[in-house]
Amino acid sequence: MNWGILGHEWAVQLLHEQLVQGRSKQAYLFTGPPGVGRRTLALAMAQALNCLQPLAPATPCLTCRTCQQFKTMKHPDLSVIQADQVGGVLKVEQIREMQHRLALAPYDARFKIALLLRFEEAHASAANALLKTLEEPPSRVILLLTAQDSESVLPTIASRCEVIRLRPLPYAQVEAGLQTGWEIPAEQANLLGHISGGRPGYALRLSRNEDLLEQRRGWLDDLSKLLSAKRVARFAYAETVTKDKYLPLADLLQTWLTYWRDVLLLTTGADSPLANIDRQAEIEQLASRINLQTVRKVIQAAEHTLQLLSKNVNARLAMEVFMLDLPYL
Ligand SMILES: [Zn+2]
Repeated sequence: MNWGILGHEWAVQLLHEQLVQGRSKQAYLFTGPPGVGRRTLALAMAQALNCLQPLAPATPCLTCRTCQQFKTMKHPDLSVIQADQVGGVLKVEQIREMQHRLALAPYDARFKIALLLRFEEAHASAANALLKTLEEPPSRVILLLTAQDSESVLPTIASRCEVIRLRPLPYAQVEAGLQTGWEIPAEQANLLGHISGGRPGYALRLSRNEDLLEQRRGWLDDLSKLLSAKRVARFAYAETVTKDKYLPLADLLQTWLTYWRDVLLLTTGADSPLANIDRQAEIEQLASRINLQTVRKVIQAAEHTLQLLSKNVNARLAMEVFMLDLPYL
């Protein structure tokens, strides 16, 4: 019984207990890094609330029509609200439209579900509009929000939600889960468990799309080149990657961040496993040439840039500033 989810057993158990005891809240905020499983868990909760033939109380069958429709986000009682693209803006009109839909009784399900994804991207007016719904939620409606962390949404919103903080899983757990649940061969499961940084959703995305693995390789190669590149070349790179509307900048930074965290592990002599096991030799080499303070500075800069990007700042400017924070080797 883990609602068909890889990891996060504590969260499933907590939500399951609440549902069984009829103590579920009207709003939940699932936080954690992208690909960790926030949306998957929210949808599993929607299944547990609405499954037509549960295996046990609050234990969805995962196969009935309702379970399938929630899984694929095509259930008529599910409203999915999100910015038009990652890094975009969730607008107040979208919240208003959702409120009209939630005012009607469920069409088919026991509970209407509003799934508000990446809520850190909500415009202030949208967040304020949602507050009204959180203060006086319609009956038979459950609001499920996802965000990077609870600090990235208005405190008045976070305080009205039960916050479920999802953290990356141990690499070995992702690796084992990919093999048993998704029949991914051992060697690939090992690599994906590591390079996903313990984020099962991201690991599965990588397993289904060879292009993403290729893209990751390219980004890490770019990083190596940038470290020995002059400022002009670095700014040119910042321009290129921010001009491309289809390039997921946050993914690029997240990839670089896992790389720098590996450098940090080696610099501090921690014996935790590296994420980028396929680049171990070059990470060792980098760690031997760089001091701890510099590594920490780059990590902070990358985290800060990621936060800025989620708040709709000028992406090119943010990337240029980050380029200056990279050491020159
Ligand atoms: Zn079902």
